[in-house]
Amino acid sequence: MKTKAFSFELIAQDGDARAGVFHTPHGDIPTPIFAPVGTQGTVKSVTQAQLAELDAKLILANTYHLYLRPGDDLVAELGGLHTFMAWNGPILTDSGGFQVFSLSDTRQVDEDGVTFKSHIDGSSHRFTPERSIAIQENLGADVIMAFDECAEPYDRNYNHLAMERTHRWAERCQRAKTRDDQALFGIVQGGVFPELREASAVHIASLDFPGNAIGGLSVGETKDEMHAMLKVVNPILPRDKLRYLMGVGTPQDLVECVGLGIDIFDCVLPTRLARHNAAMTDSGRMNMMNAQFARDERPISETCTCYTCQTHSRAYIRHLIQAREMLSGTLLSIHNIHTLLNLARKMREAIIAGQFEGFAKRYLSDLFM
Ligand SMILES: [Zn+2]
Repeated sequence: MKTKAFSFELIAQDGDARAGVFHTPHGDIPTPIFAPVGTQGTVKSVTQAQLAELDAKLILANTYHLYLRPGDDLVAELGGLHTFMAWNGPILTDSGGFQVFSLSDTRQVDEDGVTFKSHIDGSSHRFTPERSIAIQENLGADVIMAFDECAEPYDRNYNHLAMERTHRWAERCQRAKTRDDQALFGIVQGGVFPELREASAVHIASLDFPGNAIGGLSVGETKDEMHAMLKVVNPILPRDKLRYLMGVGTPQDLVECVGLGIDIFDCVLPTRLARHNAAMTDSGRMNMMNAQFARDERPISETCTCYTCQTHSRAYIRHLIQAREMLSGTLLSIHNIHTLLNLARKMREAIIAGQFEGFAKRYLSDLFM
């Protein structure tokens, strides 16, 4: 199945860092890019108007969650995810694989698919590659993901089996796909084992997806191990296709992994930290509950241009947290998402200017000051 209306333009490369534009039916995505996660069709505690004001260019939604509630048929009946959640920009859905393997403690895998129990009511469900694609076609995101098997990163035998099954499932996903207004990305697996990662990258690259993702990282392995895997995989994945590192999203990760040739990131971190009263800044994390902020009239960050920092003081945010007011989560989410989106924009400028290496060194040294 051909995909219309999608193309990736590589604009600049500086070392291994890349700047580009991914054209989709719902708009252009400048890369590198960070995608905020809207698990249930909502980026937690921020409105779609606030996301637009933050200039978010891509958001992610989770197939597993939307399939269970409200149901992909219902979303399709109400016009698809863009209409249902009133977000007219690009959306990416995952395949459900990661949640099925991580949330469901009673899953059973066979060659054809996975049977699992709902975390909501314990009811029994089954995902196959074909079913995952059908659900993602009902949801209607611009980018959809191949159904993959996520193994615990250190078990070599299981990773080998899971990787080979992921390859067979990737081909089944390609055959199952019927919509030409969605781009299907393949996923490289292989745990922390260079020879498996290499074999997986070669196989997934050979299937000629419009973009390629790297899965099964940031799941408990060390940063050195993650970087070593990217150094194996990225040179094999085609230069003219997007590279998406799934579920990774600290500022340090973004800078280091863009430097290794990654274009797309997603992570729940900015909104999760906001719910835990933490602000992400270019010089590290701040716990906004801290008593030292009680009379602090400064914004979270004096150089930040987000709504929260332009409008509110540390003292006010701390007060909202103390009073258990919901607005604290919204204000911190806006600031945290801005921090990562802005970091991606600054990296893109630095790559285009041929100054990425210097930018990365300065940024990382400020972060750990
Ligand atoms: Zn801010």
